[in-house]
Amino acid sequence: MPLRDTAPKLSPEQYEKNFADITPPMTKRQAAIEAARCLYCFDAPCTIACPTHIDVPAFIKKISTGNLRGSAREILSANILGQSCGRVCPTEALCEGACVMHEKGEEAIEIGRLQRYSVDYVLENKIELFHAGAPNAKRVACIGSGPASLACAAELAKWGYDVTIFDRNEMPGGLNSYGIAAYKSRASEAVREVDLIKDLGVKFRQRTQIPRQVSFAELEKQFDAIFLGVGLGDTWALGLPGEDLQGVYGALEFIEKTKVQPFGDVEIGRRVACIGAGNTAIDVVTAARRLGAEIVYLVYRRGEAEMPAFAYEYQLAKQDGVSFLWQTQPVRVLGTNGAVSGLECVRTELGAPDAQGRRSPAPVEGSEFRIEVDMVVRAVGQKPVTEFLKAIPGVEIRKNGTVEIDEHHQTGHQKYFAGGDCTNGGSEVVDAVAEGMAAARGLDEFLGVPRG
Ligand SMILES: Cc1cc2nc3c(=O)[nH]c(=O)nc-3n(C[C@H](O)[C@H](O)[C@H](O)COP(=O)(O)OP(=O)(O)OC[C@H]3O[C@@H](n4cnc5c(N)ncnc54)[C@H](O)[C@@H]3O)c2cc1C
Ligand code: SF4
Repeated sequence: MPLRDTAPKLSPEQYEKNFADITPPMTKRQAAIEAARCLYCFDAPCTIACPTHIDVPAFIKKISTGNLRGSAREILSANILGQSCGRVCPTEALCEGACVMHEKGEEAIEIGRLQRYSVDYVLENKIELFHAGAPNAKRVACIGSGPASLACAAELAKWGYDVTIFDRNEMPGGLNSYGIAAYKSRASEAVREVDLIKDLGVKFRQRTQIPRQVSFAELEKQFDAIFLGVGLGDTWALGLPGEDLQGVYGALEFIEKTKVQPFGDVEIGRRVACIGAGNTAIDVVTAARRLGAEIVYLVYRRGEAEMPAFAYEYQLAKQDGVSFLWQTQPVRVLGTNGAVSGLECVRTELGAPDAQGRRSPAPVEGSEFRIEVDMVVRAVGQKPVTEFLKAIPGVEIRKNGTVEIDEHHQTGHQKYFAGGDCTNGGSEVVDAVAEGMAAARGLDEFLGVPRG
């Protein structure tokens, strides 16, 4: 069944313009000028702030001396997904946020873009920087091909492990391929980066759902250890009447379409409401506007000050002309002939801050109102994959549904290690990479292979 009313189609050129890179690649001259601004700090705060601790001054120095291969090697040895991270990291909150230039009242060094400049060079020129280690006869399976598994697999392969990645999706890369806003990174970029891991001899079995197609018992028999990099699951439901109407989507389901279909084929309402105010909600509302939706509401039950999205993400949505409905709680999705026609909402008032400093919203009696929309997108976080995890005896699950691990990333079942969103509850690509690498060290220690 179609949506009640759809946004007018744009020209292919207009879609490409709307989803063009928001941080375009640097030219040689731009990179040289930017690299020359770096002060090459000792104990550089940017390196400390980066979860993968890339030696930022070292890679920037190599750019300024024209050694792009050395620069990329510096980046990728600390973070094999340096290309994605250069595009998608919330740098304002990480490396660039820590840059000493702020203290001088100047703009931070554009670390993310410089990082991308170096890594793009080796990817475009197909320069092989790393090699698989001498085989050590140990086999490791990684479930999931997202950033956590990719980073874990790359480390292990460099040390001589025989690694196979199993993933249910068509393309490897996890949310890097299917979830990140298209104006930050296209799926093709994420897939191209996976070649770095393939070049290390890591085997990929895509379109393979665990345990449906390969049971845990089979994995345990065939492999010496298993890494769980399964991320999180679908978007939480709202539990509202009318949620089953045509035109109600989960955020991931909607964003995925913008990554795997031509933009012109993505169905989009003329008027769209997105519920939630995190970074994913921003991805939804900006994508909706860029696909041509005429009115896009971001509906949030708390106020602007409580919004969980990063400030620069919020800025992006403001620039895209999104309408923000603060202190507004949806109570019912309205429909006409089975399709979404509106959203009934109520105003809220905020109570005193709780122990975590969050102010609870309470509905204001008699403040109900309706907005006319053709599409509603839920962006209220992803569910953990509890049922999947429960099927592995011994793996402990925390109250919030994430996997319990020790300091070596080992789970309650000694053969299983875990990292990324399924353990941290949902963070950034760079955190998943850092955790995948830490788990590789834990696995290596557990398997006890002496390294030459
Ligand atoms: C909409 C959205 C936008 C985001 N934008 C950004 C951003 O701009 N910058 C940023 O740094 N981070 C962003 N993130 C967060 C980032 O994408 C994640 O933190 C990161 O991808 C987590 O990596 P992961 O490997 O743990 O899991 P995932 O990337 O989720 O990968 C998990 C993989 O496991 C596979 N899998 C799961 N279960 C099974 C099974 N049973 N059998 C086989 N395969 C399985 C899945 O198919 C998937 O490929 C965003 C997240 C979302 C949801
Ligand atoms: S990986 Fe991300 S946080 Fe780390 S230096 Fe690069 S852009 Fe900054």
